[in-house]
Amino acid sequence: MLGQMMQKPLLISTLIDHADTYHGETAIISVNTAGGTEETSWGGVAANARRLGSALSRLGLDPQARCGTIAWNNRRHLEIYFGTSGAGFVCHTINPRLHPEQLAYIINHASDQVLFLEPTFLPIAAKLREHLPKLQHIVLMGPRDAAAAAQVEGLIFYDELLDTGDAGFEWPQFDENTASSLCYTSGTTGNPKGVLYSHRSTVLHAFASNTLDCVGYSARDVVLPVVPMFHVNAWGSPYGCAMSGARMVLPGPGLDGESLVNLIEKWGVTLAMGVPTIWLGLLGHAKKSGATLNSLTRTVIGGSACPPSMIDTFRDDYGVETIHAWGMTEMSPLGSTNMPLAKHAGLSDEDQRRLRENQGRPPFGVELKIVDDAGNDLPHDGTTQGDLMVRGHWVLDSYFLIEETALENGWFNTGDVATLDSDGYLTIRDRSKDIIKSGGEWISSVELENIAMGHPEIANAAAIGVTHPKWDERPVIVAVRAEGFEPDEDQVLGWFDGKIAKWQIPDKVIFVDALPLGATGKVLKRELKEQFDDVLTG
Ligand code: ADP
Repeated sequence: MLGQMMQKPLLISTLIDHADTYHGETAIISVNTAGGTEETSWGGVAANARRLGSALSRLGLDPQARCGTIAWNNRRHLEIYFGTSGAGFVCHTINPRLHPEQLAYIINHASDQVLFLEPTFLPIAAKLREHLPKLQHIVLMGPRDAAAAAQVEGLIFYDELLDTGDAGFEWPQFDENTASSLCYTSGTTGNPKGVLYSHRSTVLHAFASNTLDCVGYSARDVVLPVVPMFHVNAWGSPYGCAMSGARMVLPGPGLDGESLVNLIEKWGVTLAMGVPTIWLGLLGHAKKSGATLNSLTRTVIGGSACPPSMIDTFRDDYGVETIHAWGMTEMSPLGSTNMPLAKHAGLSDEDQRRLRENQGRPPFGVELKIVDDAGNDLPHDGTTQGDLMVRGHWVLDSYFLIEETALENGWFNTGDVATLDSDGYLTIRDRSKDIIKSGGEWISSVELENIAMGHPEIANAAAIGVTHPKWDERPVIVAVRAEGFEPDEDQVLGWFDGKIAKWQIPDKVIFVDALPLGATGKVLKRELKEQFDDVLTG
């Protein structure tokens, strides 16, 4: 016997319809690429999304055509998210910081037929145009601009395209398993691979992100996604916020500490999301300027390990709770968030602090386990470490245009090395390629970095394994000194005493002015390894 309930497909268009109907007047603040801020609403975004959906449907694109975006976080990008997917096309977000060759590779691999572009990137597109045979339309995200029109033949202007669309457009209905959006992994090994999300996986991910122990967006929140909309759909925040009717502040291209502090204070941001490197800049500026960040209640920090010292600073200096989150492009991305359980209420302050440092536990919809090299399950005892495997409603099955499954016995291998405890709390020890192997023993680079960054005179640090004649690899810290301080190597190495086993203490500290960052704000350890691999042998 089947249940006798309605079958309503889980479509992304239902999210924007909900935001329109019940939160139509709720503000969306957008920092424009050309400068200046504009204020619209979920109702305005929804109307433009329908105009765009209808205009695209008249362009004669293939069904499910991929529509690329090379864009910052702003309201046009938000409209494109809903307008493309809602009308049955695939929203393909592309990282603007990629090398032009990689851009061309991804656009061609995805067979993008439309490319939405910020004015800033027009010169790149003009240059790449002849290498993009499948591309039919380039849409500049703004009003008509004569100088731009002269650069690219047939250039379409977003605002004019909307004028050709119908605000009363009715979203098509289709199978919820239909592809909705596409995001490529950063391709640290080989060419980037596409992760093709479905309407169903996206809506389920939004539901989960809206549970209280996950991100829990609310209609009373003002959400600042600093995490780019080209990086795993800004961690799904546009969908989660539409579902709950949260206000959004879209920060545009300026992600420096000062701009972010100003946005938080001006618009009363309550919830901000981003990778740790972004918050280093923000905290630095807040300290210098004396900003109090009064409205901010929580930050979601993930994408790479959040140093415990950052969680402390947010809590102790600004009264802000940090939700440490873990995930990946292949997981839409949310895999776990760190929130306490009822039984933790009685713990000492110190133990509660310690508990909030790890990557947390999975929401409903994600299962985690760890395995050894032969694929055997390992105990969830909080100390045994192994390869982290996941499965769930918003975890990929296979990569875009690759037929073979990406799974091993039904589970996806994350490439992370981790421990799990009996409550499901996850501690990421390392990415398997970053772990430091010293004399057959493993040293967690994340742990070394957390300690180094807890040093009050260190602004940023990376731990890498470099070649050693006897131990194969030994840990070395590459550190950036905090402004106005001159700690020396012995002081930094001394800081590790008593905090980890003696043999895990790094052999050397190398001071640099800045760490190399990748396109999504993560430290490029590969570059550091290449540069410093011979510091102990040379
Ligand atoms: P890429 O870094 O290749 O662009 P993702 O953005 O999908 O790809 O990154 C996923 C990886 O980032 C995870 O597998 C993990 O190694 C790392 N990561 C994400 N969040 C955290 C976290 N909170 N702590 C430690 N590592 C993290």
